[in-house]
Amino acid sequence: MRFQPPASHFVDGARLEDEGGAPFDVTYPATGEVIARLHAATPAVIDAALGAAKRAQAGWAALTGTERGRVLRRAAEIMRDRNRDLSILETHDTGKPLQETLVADATSGADALEYFGGLAATLTGEHIPLAGGDFVYTRRRPLGVCVGIGAWNYPTQIACWKAAPALCVGNAMVFKPSETTPLSALKVAEILVEAGAPPGLFNVVQGMGEVGGALVTDPRVAKVSLTGSAPTGRKVYAAAADGMKHVTMELGGKSPLVIFDDADLEDAVGGAILGNFYSSGQVCSNGTRVFVQRGIKERFLARLVERVKGAVIGDPMDEATNFGPMVSERQAEIVLGYVAKGMAEGARLVHGGTRLDRPGVFVEPTIFADVTDGMTIAREEIFGPVLSVLDFDTEEEVMARANATDLGLAAGVFTRDLARAHRVAAGFEAGTCYINTYNLAPVEAPFGGSKMSGVGRENSKLAVEHYSEMQGIYVAAGPVEAPY
Ligand code: NAD
Repeated sequence: MRFQPPASHFVDGARLEDEGGAPFDVTYPATGEVIARLHAATPAVIDAALGAAKRAQAGWAALTGTERGRVLRRAAEIMRDRNRDLSILETHDTGKPLQETLVADATSGADALEYFGGLAATLTGEHIPLAGGDFVYTRRRPLGVCVGIGAWNYPTQIACWKAAPALCVGNAMVFKPSETTPLSALKVAEILVEAGAPPGLFNVVQGMGEVGGALVTDPRVAKVSLTGSAPTGRKVYAAAADGMKHVTMELGGKSPLVIFDDADLEDAVGGAILGNFYSSGQVCSNGTRVFVQRGIKERFLARLVERVKGAVIGDPMDEATNFGPMVSERQAEIVLGYVAKGMAEGARLVHGGTRLDRPGVFVEPTIFADVTDGMTIAREEIFGPVLSVLDFDTEEEVMARANATDLGLAAGVFTRDLARAHRVAAGFEAGTCYINTYNLAPVEAPFGGSKMSGVGRENSKLAVEHYSEMQGIYVAAGPVEAPY
């Protein structure tokens, strides 16, 4: 098996195996080849990981921010040096084309380590002057042991987007990757240790939902950060609430992309492509409901289909390929089920819609037109390469329809009218919005959802707030005036 790691887990600074755990295979989606076989964490592995994290955390929190930041920035450098190897692994784990993984996975993880590494030394409290010389000062304190749980679409990025802010403030972490893509988080753990992180600071345990569930409910855990679907989010949030734990929930979306008549056509088409077909459509923030104003609609559709026909679909390891397979047979079945529903409910298929007759799980980039708000493909997250075009006439109408969903992860608008662009962006009930572009997620900017798409934010200075709490300390300058 070409990518078999030495052991399934990484605990207390070392690889750890326990063959008592249920075995599961990792397959390369482009060929179906089994590339690794791992074991789910047993209760003993989970206990060891949480125990190690607890032990490591106090010493790590006692370091200066400068010292913690140095470790994270060193890890970022190592990741960048190994970008090609890490990208090859990521491509085999997820099926995403190497053309993408070389620029969007380990590099994005490294950005997070570097950014939060830089921030670590700047985290201070404040001084609040009061009457009579009294004052309060605040101290930013880490929460303790944090649990990260990942989805399968951006495994390296998700591990780093959670680890970097958590560790920068002085927390330790136990991370459970998705069982579909479990390999790259082990590399992140190794790199952190190589960069000087103490054993136990960042641990990786493998397994399905039950392993995640056991982590979330453990009393040693102070905070849970999940990236996953809204139904899983609901369960994990409820379990965390029982122990009054902090949470960050990065969940699914059904995001609108609104294109007005006056938009730059090529940019709007480019935005729709980035917002629907990158990573074969397996991106949480995708703008899958593409509302196009009637005056531009036919030209938009024609140009979109023309450009999508130019997608290079094939071997993800060929750097010319820019559209790869779905992550798994199961995901492809879900997506093809939605395509069938779209057709049955009267949407007009203008491109794609079929599974390619070749090894691996390739579903064509698919475009539907004449989609209406009530259709299943316009209501439910598909998490695959299916773009729906819906028509609209007025701004007022499209805003009401764009917001008529329980989800609120992202939203975008294309227009040349400056005032309208800002008005529309401000009117979106979504956490991550775009004007005249789509789906960029720089570490400097907050990322996260509104409504059922989640709570909390990843990236930016705000992420620090979600991995720490402020302690207020009142200092008296005069005598204590008690009533008796
Ligand atoms: P999923 O919800 O099936 O699983 C996510 C993770 O949760 C996995 O590691 C899984 O093992 C774990 N899990 C499942 N049940 C659990 C439980 N009861 N307790 C604890 N952990 C549990 O999601 P997925 O299929 O891996 O990923 C796709 C979903 O993730 C989509 O909905 C997508 O939109 C979302 N996503 C969101 C973001 C974001 O940042 N908002 C990013 C990527 C993916």
